[in-house]
Amino acid sequence: MNNPDAHDFLAVDQDLTEEERAIRDAVRDYGTAELLPHVADWFEAGTIPAVREVAKGFGALGVFGMHLEGYGCAGTNAVGYGLACRELEAIDSGLRSFVSVQGSLAMTAIHHYGSEEQRQEWLPRMAAGEAIGCFGLTEPDSGSDPGSMRTRARRDGSDWVLNGTKMWITNGSVADVAVVWAATDDGIRGFLVPAGTPGFTANVIHKKLSLRASITSELVLQDVRLPADALLPEASGLRAPLSCLSEARYGIVWGAAGAARACFESALDYTKARVQFGRPISDFQLTQRKLADLLIDVNHAMLTALRIGRLKDAGQAHHSHISFGKLANVRSAQRVAAIARGMHGASGITLEYPVMRHMLNLESVATYEGTEEVHALTLGQALTGSSAFR
Ligand code: FAD
Repeated sequence: MNNPDAHDFLAVDQDLTEEERAIRDAVRDYGTAELLPHVADWFEAGTIPAVREVAKGFGALGVFGMHLEGYGCAGTNAVGYGLACRELEAIDSGLRSFVSVQGSLAMTAIHHYGSEEQRQEWLPRMAAGEAIGCFGLTEPDSGSDPGSMRTRARRDGSDWVLNGTKMWITNGSVADVAVVWAATDDGIRGFLVPAGTPGFTANVIHKKLSLRASITSELVLQDVRLPADALLPEASGLRAPLSCLSEARYGIVWGAAGAARACFESALDYTKARVQFGRPISDFQLTQRKLADLLIDVNHAMLTALRIGRLKDAGQAHHSHISFGKLANVRSAQRVAAIARGMHGASGITLEYPVMRHMLNLESVATYEGTEEVHALTLGQALTGSSAFR
C-alpha cells in the first residue's frame, strides 16, 4: 500500500459526494487561478482594490448565498457550502469573510427575515455579486454582548429614525445595503439601510494588522430616516441576528481547516526544499515531530468540519456543535499557523509564503463571530445547563 496522501491524510474527502467534490474543485481552481496570485498584494495594500470585480467573480462562481434557496442562490447543502469556505480560506481568511458576510450574514438576514419585496429587490443582485451587503451588529461599546447595543430606532409617523454607531463592519464602506440591528421599544429589530441614505456614513478602519485583504468599516447613523418598509418584518429580538451569526460561524469551522491546511502544506514543501547542516530540514527529527503535530491538527479540523456539516444537513446541528467547531478549529489553525511560521525561518515573516498572513488573519477569525471565551461559555452551558455569561 502507498503512503497516504499528505494533503488529505485521513482521506476525509473520500466521504464527499460527486456534487460536493465538484464544488470543492470549482472553488479551489478559481481561488488558485484568480485570487492567490493577488492576495499577498491586497494584504500588503490593506484592502481589496477592485472589490466590485472580486464580488462579480464570486457571484459568477456561485458562492454568494449558495446555501440559500431561490432568488438566484444555488441551494447547496451545508457540506457544499463548507467546502467552498474551506477552499477560500486556504487562500485567505479575508476572502472567505467576504463570502460569509455577504451570504451567511446579509443575504441570510434578508432571506429569512425580509419581506418578499425586500428579497426580490436585493437577493438576486447580491447572489450575482452586483450588489454588496454588510451586517452591522457590533458597536464600539457592544461586542460579545450585542444585547447591550445603543443604536436606537424610533418611530416617527410611519417612518423609522435611526441613531448610533456600528464598529468593525466588514465591507461597510463598499456596501450597497447595510443590514443594521437597532434597539426599539419592541426589542431589537433589523433594518435595510441603502448606501447614500442621508445621515448614513461609512468610514474605513485603517492600521489593521490582520484581515488586511478585507475592508473593515465604522458605520455612523445620524438621524437616518427610513420608510416603514425598511424594517425586516420577520426579525424580532436578538434571536434573528444570532441565527445569521450561527450560519457564518459554521463557515468558519470549515474555513479555519482550510487556513490550517494551507500552512501545513507550505511547511511541508518548504522544509523538504530547505537545506541546512547538509540535509533538507525535513530530515531532522524535530522537524518531523512538528510536521506530525500539524498533520494531526489539520486532519482533526477536517473531520470536525465534515461531522458538523453532516449533522447540519441532517437538521441535527445544535448551536453548541457549531461553537465546538469554531473554538476547536480556529484554535488548531492558530497553532498550526504559528508553528508553520517558525518552520519557514526568516522567509516565514514575508508575504512570499502564506504562513504569517494566515497567522495574522486568524487573530481576527478567533475574535469575530464569538471569541474563544464566548464559545467556551456556550459549551459550558450546553454541558452543565448553567449560563456563566454574566
Ligand atoms: P469584547 O466583547 O469587548 O471582548 C474583549 C475580551 O473579553 C475578549 O477576549 C472576550 O472573549 C472577553 N469577554 C467578553 N465577555 C466575556 C465573558 N462573559 N467572559 C469571559 N470573557 C469575556 N461585527 C459585525 O457586527 N459585523 C461585521 O461584519 C464584523 N466584522 C469584523 C471584522 C473584523 C476584522 C473584526 C476584528 C471584527 C468584526 N466584527 C464584526 C466584530 C466582532 O464580531 C467583535 O469584535 C466580536 O464580537 C468581539 O467583540 P469586541 O471586539 O467588542 O470584544
